[in-house]
Amino acid sequence: MLFVDTHTHIYDRDFDADRTEVVQRALDNGVGVMLLPNVDASTMEPMMETHEQFPECTRVMMGLQPEEVKGDYKQVLAVMEKELEKDIFIGVGEVGLDFYWDTTFEKEQIDAFETQLDWAKQLSLPLSIHCRNAFSFMARILEKHQDGGLHGVMHCFTGTEEEARVYLELGFHLGLGGVTTYKNCSVRDYLHNIPLDRIVLETDAPYLSPVPHRGQRNEPAFLVDTAKKIAEIYEMSVEEIAETTTNNAKTLFGI
Ligand SMILES: [Zn+2]
Repeated sequence: MLFVDTHTHIYDRDFDADRTEVVQRALDNGVGVMLLPNVDASTMEPMMETHEQFPECTRVMMGLQPEEVKGDYKQVLAVMEKELEKDIFIGVGEVGLDFYWDTTFEKEQIDAFETQLDWAKQLSLPLSIHCRNAFSFMARILEKHQDGGLHGVMHCFTGTEEEARVYLELGFHLGLGGVTTYKNCSVRDYLHNIPLDRIVLETDAPYLSPVPHRGQRNEPAFLVDTAKKIAEIYEMSVEEIAETTTNNAKTLFGI
């Protein structure tokens, strides 16, 4: 059984003390590939170091996460755009919109997101998209830019069935993680209606641990707990979930 964790931050400081063990536990549990999305200028170096330490089982993306879009975002984007010339990146991420805590940089977030959508198109790379409290802006912007050249994952998707349909129609995949194992997660009520070939798995480690690890630091090995819950919902075996979601991830990210 092979799983792909399509969104994980194992380069985070939270893993400095035991990163090798964390990667080993991932491999022991069948999580053979881990996709690392960037966050901001300060995470580029630790992300690349982690990739150099585990070149076989990690792949890297480049992008500016919306909560980190500040007054200097144009300079930060210029550095990242230069970095993307290196041709080692398998995706543009994580990018998007987040109006949950703070809307101070709403305009800047939108501008940064649109710039990065253009990169994805020019480089023919898939996106890892973060969206919180911003569905209507997100749908409108994706619709405006979708000319057939955009594809990617709505990472940590937790929206309504209607929202899920909008993203599917726009050509995107849904990234499901630990939240899917929480009792109050509404996605569980309609997920069986969503074609499994549009689903990929992720942990978003160190955040959002699935049950029974809720409240602890999350890690890629825990992807298996999310896969088990999704298998229950689709009334399929964990092996079938692994096979289909891994194929989806491989096709989408070209890995
Ligand atoms: Zn993330």
